Amino acid sequence: MSACYTHSLDSLPLTEAEKRAVAPVMERYRFRANDYYLSLIDWDDPDDPIRRIIVPHSDEARDWGALDPSGEGEYTIMPGLQHKYPDTAIMLASDACGGLCRFCFRKRIFMEGAVPARVDVDEALRYIAGAEEIRNVLISGGDPLLLPRQQLERILEGLAAIPHLEFLRIGSRMPVFDPHRILNDPELVSLLGRHSRPGRALYIQTHFNHPNEITEPTIAAVGMLRRAGVVLTNQTPLLRGVNDDPEVLAELFSSLARMGVPPYYLFVCRPTTGNHHFTVPVERGYAILQRALRLCSGPARRARFCMSHESGKIEVLGVTGTRVLFRRHRTPDPVEAGEILEFPRNPAALWFDDYCDAEEADSSDAAAEAGALCSRCGSQVPERAN
Ligand code: SF4
Repeated sequence: MSACYTHSLDSLPLTEAEKRAVAPVMERYRFRANDYYLSLIDWDDPDDPIRRIIVPHSDEARDWGALDPSGEGEYTIMPGLQHKYPDTAIMLASDACGGLCRFCFRKRIFMEGAVPARVDVDEALRYIAGAEEIRNVLISGGDPLLLPRQQLERILEGLAAIPHLEFLRIGSRMPVFDPHRILNDPELVSLLGRHSRPGRALYIQTHFNHPNEITEPTIAAVGMLRRAGVVLTNQTPLLRGVNDDPEVLAELFSSLARMGVPPYYLFVCRPTTGNHHFTVPVERGYAILQRALRLCSGPARRARFCMSHESGKIEVLGVTGTRVLFRRHRTPDPVEAGEILEFPRNPAALWFDDYCDAEEADSSDAAAEAGALCSRCGSQVPERAN
């Protein structure tokens, strides 16, 4: 059984009023889903978490955030190839996904009129082969497991021939969106397994966001990948109305651990255009994670709470009565990695810049002038309100 894809809201049991409410959103952002994933929705529940993930909402029309909140454009070497951290390259190998998540931080590549961002594989392989500091490649997109098997094979074979690569990663939501893509294609699983060998593992970073996404077919698909030798980890953003509840998050982490998929990153929702209704304040998010972890046992307790900021990956380390501590987890200049940063608490903060902006606004330092670069987060200091 293969999933049937749809790009039209007409196939959903929405009322005419609901369709009218999202009409402005549909002019800007595409919709894509399939019958398997849509079957997980309880249509009698307007707050169903899967519905929130996949069905357009009128709040997406709110003018807030940036289309490239992590500054990926700045580190794009050629269309579809990013090189931000010296040891890691990211290939955008596909410009299609099994569904379009409403919170996607790369929605710019799925928008109406978007220029295709897919990488030129030969050019990218030449670049990676010539950059010996690159030790691993993340194949992302879009979803690489939607590519025809021969195309994925060409990429994997090309990367396998580059001696300085130590391991590969594939970012995929296909085990979630369409587990039958894996269950029905043993040759795909065998291809992935061949490229996960002793001394050079192939990781698949899955994106389970909510326990309702873990079903019998997903458990079977994950089992197939693990038996083939693929190493799996999971990452999810913290999403308002989806998983911003300690019990839901604990159930997600525990179910993942049962499947042998360690929770790896819990991401602060990026300030992406159209995403305000998914945001959770940083300090509230930290508290939710701590309460969730108390409900989990060992293997389920591994997630770090991080932000993919334009200056690098920043971990939220702790919140005291008055202060918030961050650690620079990954930085373009490795010398800066590990730096601990401390700010006064700001319960309304949704992103790292909200801490920097508040501190710079309080400072009499000339560098705090609008347009200057913040010395701590590297972003432009916004104009102050009078
Ligand atoms: S699967 Fe990933 S890349 Fe695709 S729409 Fe969802 S979040 Fe974006």
